[in-house]
Amino acid sequence: MKNFQGVLKELEYSFENVEFYQELFYKTEVDINKIKTPDDLEQIPFTSKIDYRRSFPKGTLAKGFNLSHPMIASHRSSGSTGERLTTLEIGMHLLDRAISCAQINPSINNAFHKVGRKIARYAAPNCSDVECANPNSSIEDRILPDQTLVLPVYHDLLTTTEQMLDRTLEEINEYQPDLFYVDPTHFAFLLRHYKKRGLTPPNIPVMVAYTGATDCARRQIAEFYDMNSMYGELLSSTEFGWVAMECNHGHLHANDDSFFFEYVDVEFESPLENTFKELCISSIDQGASPHIRYRTGDVASVTEGPCDCGSDRVRFVMEGKFSQFLVKDGRPFISPQQVDKMIGGPAWLDLYQLEQVKDTEFLLKIIANDSYQQGDEAYFIEQLTDIYNTNLKVDVSFVDYIASERSGKYQFVRGLNNNV
Ligand SMILES: [Zn+2]
Repeated sequence: MKNFQGVLKELEYSFENVEFYQELFYKTEVDINKIKTPDDLEQIPFTSKIDYRRSFPKGTLAKGFNLSHPMIASHRSSGSTGERLTTLEIGMHLLDRAISCAQINPSINNAFHKVGRKIARYAAPNCSDVECANPNSSIEDRILPDQTLVLPVYHDLLTTTEQMLDRTLEEINEYQPDLFYVDPTHFAFLLRHYKKRGLTPPNIPVMVAYTGATDCARRQIAEFYDMNSMYGELLSSTEFGWVAMECNHGHLHANDDSFFFEYVDVEFESPLENTFKELCISSIDQGASPHIRYRTGDVASVTEGPCDCGSDRVRFVMEGKFSQFLVKDGRPFISPQQVDKMIGGPAWLDLYQLEQVKDTEFLLKIIANDSYQQGDEAYFIEQLTDIYNTNLKVDVSFVDYIASERSGKYQFVRGLNNNV
């Protein structure tokens, strides 16, 4: 198992330096000296967000670090699942993790390493973690010290005005970025505006992050970009920084140089074939906020073995969090990703949202374009009905606005447990 030695070292480091782990190991009578093989790790309890929220900051920080330590970078989650989470980590460690993660995607890697490189970010203002993401501020106010221009956009994406979109196009033109670092739903929205104005966005690599890319967003990005050389999805988190990146063959690869990954079995009965696991991550670099056996709550389909891109890093498809799954008989049933694969990215579709409101009742909101013909969405409802194997009530409405979540992120599937 790759990095097992690394995780042993991190265990020792956490035991010596982090209050939360000292208490956890005492309480559960774990003797870290007896951990010799990957199987022995089972003796160590899993940790999760709730532990870190409860013990933050003092209990989770390693000796010698505090909130105002000069080497520390602070990251705050956008609060997509309830309360926000703040993580502090050594800036250099986060950079090392990012560099290692980006290796898998040559064009993004090159753009990231270019001397004086400029990044254009287009995502919910919350995600930018800076006050200057305020859409009414000037361009100078929105350029971060690392040469990232945070482009203006409203918190509730689809309320962004045409005037602001025009300004965004101008700013991109003026700034001449080397890399797009964008939320895929936001970027597809921006590209629709380029199209409407008869303009073409700059041909620079596109790194999508913050939320998963739907097939529909990918199709719209593919209208302007070569997906086999200029595109890659990034999985990053508040807790760890850059966790996985997509290669040019369309596979998300775990950054297993920077972390120790475990793929934990999930209790799941699905009508569809799956290899679902929960991502469980341990840090291995003795930083400010060590994490041991941290359950992320993210469900992924996991594939091992070499990829066509040449990498042997584990590949996974992000399926979503259990709280976002569609439910049948009170149990998680279909992942947001599985729903998205059913809908696919037909040419007539600009944006959708499927919301489960009762066990067998759904709302399907669709923003369609001019290629839509009546009944085009029927295949999806038939598939969903087949899988549920019972009569479903699916209310379809064609709209020109769908609300973002309170966090500012856009969620294409909303399950019954979404607001719990
Ligand atoms: Zn690959």
